[in-house]
Amino acid sequence: MKAHDGMYIDGAWRPSAGSDTIEVVNPADEQVIGAVPAGTAEDVDAAVRAARAAFPGWAAVPPAERAARLAALRDALATRREEIAETVTAELGAPLAFSRAVHADVPITVAGSYAELAGSYAFEEKVGTSTVFQEPVGVVGAITPWNYPLHQLVAKVAPALAAGCTVVLKPAEDTPLVAQLFAEAVHTAGLPAGVFNLVTGLGPVAGQALAAHEDVDLVSFTGSTAVGKRIGAVAGAAVKRVALELGGKSANVILPGADLTKAVKIGVANVFANSGQTCSAWTRMLIDADRYEEAVALAGAAAKKYVPGDPHDEGARLGPVVNATQRDRVRGYIERGVAEGARLVAGGPQAPEGRETGYYIAPTVFADVTPEMAIAQEEIFGPVICLMRYQDEDDALRIANGTVYGLAGAVWAEDDATAVAFARRMETGQVDINGGRFNPLAPFGGYKQSGVGRELGAHGLVEYLQTKSLQF
Ligand code: NAD
Repeated sequence: MKAHDGMYIDGAWRPSAGSDTIEVVNPADEQVIGAVPAGTAEDVDAAVRAARAAFPGWAAVPPAERAARLAALRDALATRREEIAETVTAELGAPLAFSRAVHADVPITVAGSYAELAGSYAFEEKVGTSTVFQEPVGVVGAITPWNYPLHQLVAKVAPALAAGCTVVLKPAEDTPLVAQLFAEAVHTAGLPAGVFNLVTGLGPVAGQALAAHEDVDLVSFTGSTAVGKRIGAVAGAAVKRVALELGGKSANVILPGADLTKAVKIGVANVFANSGQTCSAWTRMLIDADRYEEAVALAGAAAKKYVPGDPHDEGARLGPVVNATQRDRVRGYIERGVAEGARLVAGGPQAPEGRETGYYIAPTVFADVTPEMAIAQEEIFGPVICLMRYQDEDDALRIANGTVYGLAGAVWAEDDATAVAFARRMETGQVDINGGRFNPLAPFGGYKQSGVGRELGAHGLVEYLQTKSLQF
């Protein structure tokens, strides 16, 4: 898709107050594929004013009508599914098949889920002598990352609109094109002017201006823990609502009775999907001492099937990471793992063969990783998996819970009851039991430093509502 040289504010594409632009680069070949305006604080202010002006009208629209607009938005996105997939592949580097099945289809499903929820949710209830109303919070400032660029913005914008809020979105610098496509879909869907506004720009400029804007009622941020902490502090000081979806270092716990072959195969696939750039990825695989070496061999063999390749090729399974900074950061972690004494089973810090151009990383498996190592504690955000050995269930739990994060995880056991008993002791927001699949209606969000608040489904809708009770 062709980049807009303006920003979508108050229902139209308008020029930025400044003249700076941000180049969009294809990470597979390092070529510039477009440029978007680098929005200024003035642009953010114009967008927030448009959202504020549109708020009373949108909040007063009956939920059934809001549901109809969201259904039209879902349809507008669904019509452009292939273009969404190609755009995400071009600016993020995800293999086309993955872009279709995940980067396009998941947000289309999530938009549809909020069309349904807007129509069915009880925005009003009786409690004794009171009637309690769920009312929209107001103007939402949404700041999103690049790793699931359309999903992450839809997971904020769709529930916000369903609740009756209006939105200003600041998408990530690396992936603004799919955000522009989304703005076009909003326009096609006939949402009133000002209900959704898009300001592209740099985090420390446009993002910061949005998070700090006094007329924003709720800041919803997905990204790194470092930036999230700062945004939380700014929002807290202004007594604003804040939702944070931050990093993760999730554990994939394979208990002694589990199907080891299946658990390792799916565990490796989980980490290498999207080139390891998934906040909820199970980057630590925990295996009992008896079957540890068998798991190492299985993981090493599985990694060989992920040959780095051009994401535009239909058969590609592993594309590049998003940019040169991320590539260098991930390679730095691989070097650190080796220096810390972890055993390299597959991959390594060097560029994969024949992939010197483009931001490629060799799919990497580390064994003999111990809990105090940086590669066991810090989010790497690349195709790197750490295999850790545990002695017994309590040891496994200590390792699983032994990071500052708590976003996701998995447990494999001989039966669901055993896995559930273990999962209930994990300090984390989501756990997939014996290969349980992603559920777009299930609340998603973190324990501990993985975040505050939940996205998706009815739990995600509630984040954008505040309650008022009338007594009779
Ligand atoms: P990032 O925090 O640098 O950027 C995220 C967004 O914040 C971008 O839009 C960026 O422009 C903006 N931003 C940067 N500095 C800002 C500032 N000072 N004020 C306001 N906004 C600012 O993160 P990233 O590098 O884009 O994404 C990778 C990280 O995000 C990883 O650590 C990953 O775990 C995390 N992440 C978490 C989730 C989740 O749901 N929990 C999802 C995706 C990514």
